Amino acid sequence: MDQKIRIAIQKSGRLSDESLKLFKESGVKFNNGMKKLMATSHNFPVEFLFLRDDDIPGYVEDGVADLGIVGQNEVAEKAKNVKEIEKLGFSKCRLSLAVPKSASYNDVNDLDGKSIATSYPRILQNYIDSKGITAEIHEISGSVEIAPGIGLADAICDIVSSGSTLFSNGLKEVEEIFKSEAVLIGRHDLSPEQQNVLDRLLFRFDAVRKGKENRYVLLNAPNDKIERIIALIPGMKSPTVLPLAEEGWSSIHSVINEGMFWEVIEQLKAEGAQGILVVPIEKMVI
Ligand code: ATP
Ligand code: MG
Repeated sequence: MDQKIRIAIQKSGRLSDESLKLFKESGVKFNNGMKKLMATSHNFPVEFLFLRDDDIPGYVEDGVADLGIVGQNEVAEKAKNVKEIEKLGFSKCRLSLAVPKSASYNDVNDLDGKSIATSYPRILQNYIDSKGITAEIHEISGSVEIAPGIGLADAICDIVSSGSTLFSNGLKEVEEIFKSEAVLIGRHDLSPEQQNVLDRLLFRFDAVRKGKENRYVLLNAPNDKIERIIALIPGMKSPTVLPLAEEGWSSIHSVINEGMFWEVIEQLKAEGAQGILVVPIEKMVI
């Protein structure tokens, strides 16, 4: 019997949907009843704790949870003794400095001696120290973007994704100081059984991610073009080549990277490929 592993995920917010989706796509099933604090999977040895994201690094450090999914911004800000196991590719955002649109701004030295409002005092302090300036940091927990307007601070340091919140509050982004995405964190010293569960989980995450990064491609080609075409789509081991009912033609099946997609399709067409079908892949294990 496997020792269960306990995973903390955000109860509700910008990390929640993608975190739940990751487990769903990895075949880890559980009932996530509304407002429940905990859930147990019935087909994989994991339990889930649903928490505020701020609390996740601390719970993982304390061993209340073995793993957690949280933004790198929270990991850096809380500076708890946890291991960053793997980036997960969602909830991407940045922490930036912003000043009123009307303020003149050349470089970060313009903030020397000024006051800056933020929910991320540690990350901001590290940044201003690295720039050799001083600033008075006002820690506030929310609605940071209104601080300059109400005279609380000269500038802010906050999470930005599109910049529209800044814009509608009369601010302009002037420095990006930290880049973040969701990460899987873990406590140190997992038992060998728990490490084994984690390895199985990471294997599934990897298969899901590779599936998303690749496409299955099928096409028809005259037999004398096969060699040149399979050079373009070498696939995982090698492409499948099957004869068509029509003499002199074959169907070629392979896998291509999503990033290369359009370029490769153009080259395949130029080499005489016809009837090209491109199909999503749900999971991929190499
Ligand atoms: P909680 O109630 O759990 O404390 P919160 O209000 O602190 O939630 P959210 O706004 O849900 O946090 O954001 C959670 C994390 O998602 C952030 O710490 C950050 O890593 C990331 N994030 C924040 N804003 C965005 C955004 N606009 N786009 C993408 N990711 C974001
Ligand atoms: Mg929070």
